[in-house]
Order: sequence, then C-alpha cells, then structure tokens
Amino acid sequence: MRPPAVGRLLDRPEVAALVVEHGRQAVAEQLRLAVESLRSNPDQAGPDPSPEAVEVWVAGQVAGHMSRAPRRLHRVINGTGVVIHTNLGRAPLGEGIARHAAEVSAGYSNLELDRASGRRGDRQDLISDLLAHLSGAEAAMVVNNAAAAVLLGLTAIGRGREVIVSRGEAIEIGGGFRIPDILRLSGARLVEVGTTNRTRVEDYAQATHAATAAYLRVHQSNFRMDGFVARPVLRELTSAAHAIGIPVLEDVGSGLIPRGPDAVRAEDRLRGSISDGVDLLFCSGDKLVGASQAGLIMGGKQLVGRLRRHPLARALRPDKLQLAALEGTLLCYESPERLEEIPVWWMLGRSSDELRHQSERWAVNLGAAGCRVEVVPMSGAVGGGTTPGPELPSFGILLRVPKVAAARRKLISGDPAVLALEWEAGLAIDARCVLPADEAPLLGALAAAFGGSR
Ligand SMILES: *Cc1c(COP(=O)(O)O)cnc(C)c1O
Repeated sequence: MRPPAVGRLLDRPEVAALVVEHGRQAVAEQLRLAVESLRSNPDQAGPDPSPEAVEVWVAGQVAGHMSRAPRRLHRVINGTGVVIHTNLGRAPLGEGIARHAAEVSAGYSNLELDRASGRRGDRQDLISDLLAHLSGAEAAMVVNNAAAAVLLGLTAIGRGREVIVSRGEAIEIGGGFRIPDILRLSGARLVEVGTTNRTRVEDYAQATHAATAAYLRVHQSNFRMDGFVARPVLRELTSAAHAIGIPVLEDVGSGLIPRGPDAVRAEDRLRGSISDGVDLLFCSGDKLVGASQAGLIMGGKQLVGRLRRHPLARALRPDKLQLAALEGTLLCYESPERLEEIPVWWMLGRSSDELRHQSERWAVNLGAAGCRVEVVPMSGAVGGGTTPGPELPSFGILLRVPKVAAARRKLISGDPAVLALEWEAGLAIDARCVLPADEAPLLGALAAAFGGSR
C-alpha cells in the first residue's frame, strides 16, 4: 500500500469542506498525522485496500477528528445565568441587528461618505446624534472600547497636567484595566484625594491648583464598599468644579438602563450623569447598552470636539461592523416597544415564573430522552462589571451526571458548545441566558450527551 499524498487528499471534496471551516494549515496537519499513522500501522485501512479506499480512510479519520473541533471563534450557549459574561463575548447582538451589520460589511458602505455632497464624510457623524440624544448630551463620539474612551479623554484633556481621582475610585476593573495605569499612559499625573472609604468635595477643592486639568469619577464596577463610606453627590462635585472652571469626567463602565429589575435600574447613569453636570462621560458599548464592543463618549460640544480632533482618536476609531451593530441597537432604544430586540434587555426582563415554566418543559423533554433531570431554583447575575451586588433570581435544570467536571468539559468542547455550571449534584443550566435560537440545539446536545440511548 502506498500512503496517499497530502496534496491529493486536500483536493477531495469532503476534505475541501473541512478546509473552508478550519483552514488549510490545520487540515493539512491532521492529514499528515493520519498518513503517518497509516504508515506505521498499514492494516488500519483494511486488508489490501485500493488507493481510493486508502484515501477515503484517511479523509474519514480527519473528518472525524475535525468535526469534534468547532471553529476557532464559534457560538456558545450560555447556561451560566450571567447576562453579560466577559468570557462569552459580553452582550449578544439582536438577530436583526447582527444581520444589518453583516449586510453593511459584506459590501461597500457609506462609512466615510457624506450622503448630501457625495464627498468624504466622517464616520463619527453616522450615529453621534443618536448617542447624544439618548444620553441628553450635546455631542458624542465612538471609539473602540471604553478603555480607549477613557484613555483618549484623559490624553486630550489631562496630558502634562493633573487629574484628581478619589482614592476609593483608583480601581482595577479586571482584564488589566487599572485607572492609575491608564492615567500614566495618558501622560496625565494622578492626584489621589480623600481616603479609601471617604472622600468629600473639599478634598478635591484642596488639591486643585493651576495644573489641575480635570476631576475623574469612576464607577466602582465590580466591588462594593459598605459601612463608613462617603463620596460626593455627583451634582455637588460638578457644581464645585464648574465654579472654578474644572471639567468633570466620568467613567460609568456599563451605562444606560431604561428599565429592568430594580436592582439594575439604579445603574441608570448616562442620562443621570449628563443631567448632573458631567462634562465628559465614558461607557462600554457591549455591557448593559447591549451592542457591539465600543467606547461611547458623550458630553459638551467643545470637549467632544477636542477628542475628535486628537490624533489618538484615529488610532482608536471603531470599524463599520461595530458602528452598524451600535446603530441598530441604539435605534431600538428610541422606541420602548423595540427594547426586547436587544437580547440583554430581553434576558433581564424574563421573570422567574417564565424561567420556571421553560425549565419544566426542558425537564419533560430531557426526561423523555432518558436524562436524569430536575428543575431547580438558581441565581444569576448581570455580570460584566456592571453591578457587584444584585443577583437575578432564576430557574434552570440540574442534570444528574456521574463525572461532573468531565461532563462540563465535554459540553463546552462540543458542537453546539454549551457552558454549564458545575454543581456538586451535577450540571446546572440557568434558563435566563439561553437565547430562543439556542433552545433546540441545547436540548439536542444535552439529550445526545446524557440521554438514555447511551
Ligand atoms: C468595563 C469597564 C471599563 C472597560 O470597558 P471596555 O469596554 O471593556 O474597554 C472601564 N471602566 C469601567 C468602570 C468598567 O466597568
């Protein structure tokens, strides 16, 4: 038997299909391994096989292996109950919104074309009015993410000067985002005032002098301080700052809450901050706003104009996919009845009764497939460094499986991939974040993995 050449194997139709999905390098590597294995153990392809039969055997080996390997970046079914899950790409896009973004980017677009004149336009003009209107600000712009927004704001306004931050807000968000580091990077000097637990307006005032460029407020996204704590009411801080001509910048992190459970409604900091006098507001696009990764900047015309003209803005600008997804999402906020088209809002709006009924349907369905399953009360979270405290009371299913850790790994590496929670008694799946399109594939995957036919 002559082992087949990898080049020939790559031309076979069933192998070409694998190349489309996984790339030529990865498939060629698997073909080489399969051919090598055949060389060292020629009987694998059967007794005295024809050249065609050998090729079929090798292609079959590789197809079997690769079909268990999903694409590098692929969809995951979120069984964790954490709505904005950083490991799972944060906010999922609405289906119609994602379709619009795909259509725009699959062709040419008017990304930088002024429709009226047919000449060069500015991508920032595409949706800045939507964003400004939504937050009540005079002007707005978009950069690649909130970290970039803060960096741009501090650089344009604070470079070579001082920015005052409360000691309790010189924080780390996670993923390497530390306020002191961003300040250093921007070229602004950090001046910490107050104490870890208490800061007053006078603390800012006393530290202010000719070199002071701005005050920076930062949302304490992922932790909460209780007890003997105080920080200035925002309006008092902005009044004091404006009286001496100092702008107030605020990093709210997650932003925008038009409705939802009371626990998260308290987070409505976009409109609230602008009406409280914040001069420049920074917020993430893919947390509670529920859109694409983006850094939203809202504020006064003059300051936003300064940021738009800064050379760094060019390095941090968003692309057409981000802007198209953001446009689609922001448009939903304009009509309250369209809010549920934003998956984050659909998920946050689901009642625990609704989740219990859905879990009961799943349990019946999976029970019939031979799974050992029961409905359990669960507790999810908003996530994404949005609100540290509130839990989202929820329901889900508990699958009794023997080796829980191994079962969880199997689900996450499967197709469709499912991220479940490891409980002592088995694998738990919170119903809240299972999107409608994920429901049938989820039940199929669970029945196949843990059903009675196995
Ligand atoms: C999440 C967060 C950021 C970073 O946002 P990205 O969009 O991930 O860059 C910055 N500041 C706060 C307060 C946050 O919560």
